[in-house]
Amino acid sequence: MIKLYIVQVLVEHPTHALDTNFDYLSKEELKPGVRVAIVFGYQRIIGYVTGCKYSEKSKEDLEEEAGFKYRYISEVIDKQPLLNDELQQLSITLAKLTLSPRISCLQAMLPPQLKPSSNKAVGIKYQNVIEVIDKDAVLKTVKQQEALQFLNQHPHTLLKDFPYSKSVLDKMVEQKAVIIKKEEVYRDPFVDDQKNPIEYALTSDQQKVVNGIMAKINVYHTALIHGVTGSGKTEVYLHLSKYVIQNNRTVLMLVPEISLTPMMVNAFKHKFGKEVAIIHSRLSPGERYDEYRRILNHEVKIVVGARSAIFAPLENIGLIILDEEHDPSYKQESKPRYQTAQIARIRAKYHHCPVVLGSATPSLESYSRAIKGVYDLYELPKRINQFPLPEIELIDMAKEMRQQNYSLFSRAMQKQIQARLQAKEQIILLLNKRGYASFVRCLDCGEVIKCPHCDVTLTYHKQERMLKCHYCEYQIPIMKHCPNCKGTNLKHFGTGTQKVEEQLENLFPGVKVIRYDVDTTKNKDGHQKLLQQFENHEADILLGTQMIAKGLDFENVTFVGVLNADLSLNIPDFRSNERTYQLLEQVSGRAGRGKKKGTVMIQTYNPDHFVLQCVKTHDFNRFFNEEMKIRRLAKYPPYVHLLSIIIQGKNEQAVSKNANQIKTYLQKQLPQILILGPANSLIYRMQDIYRKRILIKFTDSKKLYPVLETMSDFYNKQGTKVHVVCDFNPYSQI
Ligand code: ADP
Ligand code: ZN
Repeated sequence: MIKLYIVQVLVEHPTHALDTNFDYLSKEELKPGVRVAIVFGYQRIIGYVTGCKYSEKSKEDLEEEAGFKYRYISEVIDKQPLLNDELQQLSITLAKLTLSPRISCLQAMLPPQLKPSSNKAVGIKYQNVIEVIDKDAVLKTVKQQEALQFLNQHPHTLLKDFPYSKSVLDKMVEQKAVIIKKEEVYRDPFVDDQKNPIEYALTSDQQKVVNGIMAKINVYHTALIHGVTGSGKTEVYLHLSKYVIQNNRTVLMLVPEISLTPMMVNAFKHKFGKEVAIIHSRLSPGERYDEYRRILNHEVKIVVGARSAIFAPLENIGLIILDEEHDPSYKQESKPRYQTAQIARIRAKYHHCPVVLGSATPSLESYSRAIKGVYDLYELPKRINQFPLPEIELIDMAKEMRQQNYSLFSRAMQKQIQARLQAKEQIILLLNKRGYASFVRCLDCGEVIKCPHCDVTLTYHKQERMLKCHYCEYQIPIMKHCPNCKGTNLKHFGTGTQKVEEQLENLFPGVKVIRYDVDTTKNKDGHQKLLQQFENHEADILLGTQMIAKGLDFENVTFVGVLNADLSLNIPDFRSNERTYQLLEQVSGRAGRGKKKGTVMIQTYNPDHFVLQCVKTHDFNRFFNEEMKIRRLAKYPPYVHLLSIIIQGKNEQAVSKNANQIKTYLQKQLPQILILGPANSLIYRMQDIYRKRILIKFTDSKKLYPVLETMSDFYNKQGTKVHVVCDFNPYSQI
């Protein structure tokens, strides 16, 4: 009799939010974690095996019992499970924590080619390698003997590089002196991977941090390194990593997005060469898959990557580092909405190792835990070059206006730029707004040109002569006539990086500017190329959005200018003070990193605002204390946890009705908990979807979870007109 197995398969269906297993039959035993092709309805789709049990019964008996016909699995795609036990378990935990379907968690954890919904055969490239199996073989001809000697001296010779004829080789194979092996070839995204043995002796401050963490290297705990910009945190990470891999364990090194990767990647690549794998969104799918396989095949000891690298299939992890721990990109803003640090702690607990958080401007959540003693706190208060932190001048733009200067640049900043250009030093300028002008308005009728799909104004991009929506793909050529009154008095208002670039060229003829924002760094290597050009001094000014604030280390930069600090201060979000402090402190840290002293100027209409005053004096402690007072009074993190429930759909009435229903239900079930809203999202309609939010402030999630599970099951599985998303610790109100 043939053996039968009942296999549980998780599928992703495009229209329903299915998160249940479906049973299929198989004649062989399948391991949980492999992908299979199945027929579902009338479609052939890919599923993910979550369980498999042997059945004593025949197919007919099973069908009689179940009352339906079973189908066989059509095809088994993977030989080995994609995720090991730890990561399979993690996908279940992640689904629970974020209230999202397990299939979406698996999608988030795997590189594109391996996602459960994909069955793409990935082009693994092979190369043929000649391997000697009997180095002392006595061969028939002198030529063959000579060839053997060559191979003994050149182990791992590629077939294509073998300097003898094919017939010689064939004979050697025949006589069992050598074999030809197929070996996987990896696309290496970083050509420059030579090890560079230069190693700094740590300063005593750095040494203290390294010693402290090494002393507890086998203990699960969290350590926060609060080190000012340029204090040598990266060097601390490198030392710790070296220690960990010498002890045969592995390291997960996380950095925020790509903006920081080139420099951090190079630091690790230089020190550890091929033992490092890089994972980030800019790699081609093939490269990403190759890096993933190198990890699976235990060929790397260190993984450097952005958020999703937290799921790297490393085994025996000995250290997890999150550099710039305060960075919002550590929060995933789509399903599953996880926080990287939370996942890091789950993995670190499993592996009995530390999580190291590092930042010059730690988040209030982390810093308050550190001073309470929940985390170990390490301070690096001084810059390596012993220079003080750069001097910061706040420029009152209201005063400039009163004195008839309506330019984007205060007179003081113009003078500074001029002086630095003359001294052949370099400049970084920050304006946190891309495009040319923020919006276009008709002076006749007052109409502002908006996106037809989102509740936002369109941004004018002068070079392309386009109006673009920054929230969807919508764009149209700039029109001559107002679409409302047909008038010809369209004017653009507000300033983006493109306009600044133009004005710089007017004010300082001949100046070379590199604009560094989403628009200029779209290409695969856009980032690296532009930064390299700046490093080579092919330009005087690096002008950019917040992308330039982090991690850049250019010796020749002596002046940093912030054109409008109020942009981020005025964002209606409880974190806007914190974000502004972080942004300004980070960007200021780009000045004076080399041997020359650095200066910073910040233009603002609020020079007395405490955030700006704290930035001016580099007073993190004062900022922390003042902002904590505000958070306590207004009941915001770290004093409470936040959950944002987003109710969204195409039908405005349905969104509104269901949002109210949910609020009523939650209030009844959770009478002790503070529930606010529903209110419109900051951008109420985005991509033709209406979104409302309910905000919950809580301290203990135990009671919350069961209620949320019932609510989310009801709305997401019953085919209602709305979709409900739970966003724990929301980072964006948009
Ligand atoms: P951070 O990450 O804290 O901003 P970095 O790690 O980038 O600081 O260090 C700033 C600079 O100091 C880098 O150029 C780095 O190579 C150098 N550096 C770090 N540690 C040492 C050391 N112990 N001795 C000499 N130079 C160092
Ligand atoms: Zn839009």
